[in-house]
Amino acid sequence: MQNMPLLTGVVCDTKYLKHETGNHPESAQRLTAIYTYLKTKGVHKSIKKIKPYPAPLDVIQYIHTQSYIDSVKSISTCGGGMLDLDTVVSPETYDTALLAAGGMLAAVDAVINGTVKNAFCLIRPPGHHALPERGMGFCIFNNIAIAARYIQKKYSLQRIAIVDWDVHHGNGTQFAFYSDPSVYYFSTHQFPHYPGTGNSGETGSNEGIGFTMNVPLLPGADIQAFEDAFEKHFIPAIKKFNPDFILISSGFDAHADDPLAQLYLQTEDYYLLTKLLISCAHDICNGRIVSTLEGGYNLDALKRSAHAHLSALMEA
Ligand SMILES: [Zn+2]
Repeated sequence: MQNMPLLTGVVCDTKYLKHETGNHPESAQRLTAIYTYLKTKGVHKSIKKIKPYPAPLDVIQYIHTQSYIDSVKSISTCGGGMLDLDTVVSPETYDTALLAAGGMLAAVDAVINGTVKNAFCLIRPPGHHALPERGMGFCIFNNIAIAARYIQKKYSLQRIAIVDWDVHHGNGTQFAFYSDPSVYYFSTHQFPHYPGTGNSGETGSNEGIGFTMNVPLLPGADIQAFEDAFEKHFIPAIKKFNPDFILISSGFDAHADDPLAQLYLQTEDYYLLTKLLISCAHDICNGRIVSTLEGGYNLDALKRSAHAHLSALMEA
């Protein structure tokens, strides 16, 4: 029997709709829009669906304190509440957030075990703002930071690059690895903007100096600015760092149509940026990429951009 070429894995599950946020930009409709659109595009026939599992508590603890984990659980159990002015916890949020982190773990497992070539996690709640003791900015558990530590601890792959092109700075992810030279965090984001961190002088601390790279962008920046950031700064640094795995915090809120920010990426630009990282991953880490959904709040732009990103991953 001939070996079939490996497909791209996609983590999707209607259980992710159960994190209910009410009238809120980070709504369940975001995933419904993407799932439906990918189906109309026929994508489900040429990807491998990955089933998520709830992340074990000891793995969540790689990044978060037990007291914070307990507090999310208790707010969920007691019917819900708010972690900050815009971060909603509903009765199903705790379980959904464990499944979000676990979705990334399942994707990492599938890539490392060789059942898929790369993977895209269509999960929520998002994660890159979440801090060890505090959720914020729509984020409960820091899915991508948890996944990075999981790769190191379970699979003994030591160097991880995280590329975050969400329009907001991933303060939680940066914080998790700020003094750690084994995880290199790269971010493009609108600046100044929420959450206020991410200026170019933030490059790490102690042993981690030189392993955080921020390219803040002014409102109005378009693909030219992103290409400059990637080609002149990120990709040469990634090549030098020589990671074993590349993770992407793939928010789609730098799209021109997004209501929460003022950058000007077009749908097809996500295809182009993905291609740049794929080529880099191909050269240095056997193409090992797991990407995860962060922001993106115009449903039409979101579903089309997610499709563009996935299309590039499928061509890898
Ligand atoms: Zn965002």
